[in-house]
Amino acid sequence: MYASYVFSPAGRPWAAVHGSTDRFAVHRIYCVGRNYAAHVQEMGGDPQRDPPLFFSKPADAVVANGGDVPYPPRTADLHHEVELVVAIGRGGARIAAVDALSHVYGYAVGNDLTRRDLQADARKRGLPWDSAKGFDHSAPLAAIHTVEQVGHPTDARIWLKVNEQIRQDSNLSQMIWSVPEIIAELSSLYTLQPGDLIFTGTPDGIGPLVAGDTVTAGIYGLDTLQHRVVAGRE
Ligand code: MN
Repeated sequence: MYASYVFSPAGRPWAAVHGSTDRFAVHRIYCVGRNYAAHVQEMGGDPQRDPPLFFSKPADAVVANGGDVPYPPRTADLHHEVELVVAIGRGGARIAAVDALSHVYGYAVGNDLTRRDLQADARKRGLPWDSAKGFDHSAPLAAIHTVEQVGHPTDARIWLKVNEQIRQDSNLSQMIWSVPEIIAELSSLYTLQPGDLIFTGTPDGIGPLVAGDTVTAGIYGLDTLQHRVVAGRE
C-alpha cells in the first residue's frame, strides 16, 4: 500500500576499493576506543583499568581520500586519530575469534576525527560521546585493500603527519584487542552486516587540527590517506 517516498532518500554512502571501480557500500561505522596503551595513558587513563570500548559514527560521515573536511561547528579542539579500518564482507552474530578473519573483506587507513573538547566534557559528566565523535565529515577514509591484495596486517607502521610534521608513529602490533578479538566482541553486541566498517583505535600522538592543515596518514602496505581541513560554516 505504500509507494513513493516523501522526499528522495539520500544515496548510500560508499568507500573506494583499491585497484577497482567497484564501490564498497557502507552499512555502519563502528569504532574502538582505548585500544593502544600509550594512547590510553596520554588520555589520562590506565590501560589495565580502562578496557577498550565501542562507539559509532553515522555511515555518511565518510569522506573520500583527497576530500576536504570543513572544520566542524561547536568545537575549538578538533583532533586527528589515525586508525586501521576493517571492512566487513560477510555478516554474522557471535562470531568466534578463530573464525573472525573470514568475515573481513579488506583494510583501509582512516582518521577518527574527534571534537576533543566535547569528548572531555562528556567524559567528565558521564555523558555519551556521540557529539564528540559522530559528526558530519568525521570519518576520512582511503581506499579499501582486499584481503587478497594485502592479507591481514598485524605488524605494520601506522603514522600521521600534519602538514610536514609527524604527529603519530606507532605499529599495529601495539593494539590491545586484535582484529579477531574486536570482531568477536563487536558481533556479540550487534549483528555485523556486509558493509560495516570498524575503526580499530588510535595510537598515541593525537593532537589538534586547524583550517588550512593537510593531514597525511598511512599504514605500511595500504593507500596513504590525505585530506585538508578547510574553514567550516560560521
Ligand atoms: Mn579513535
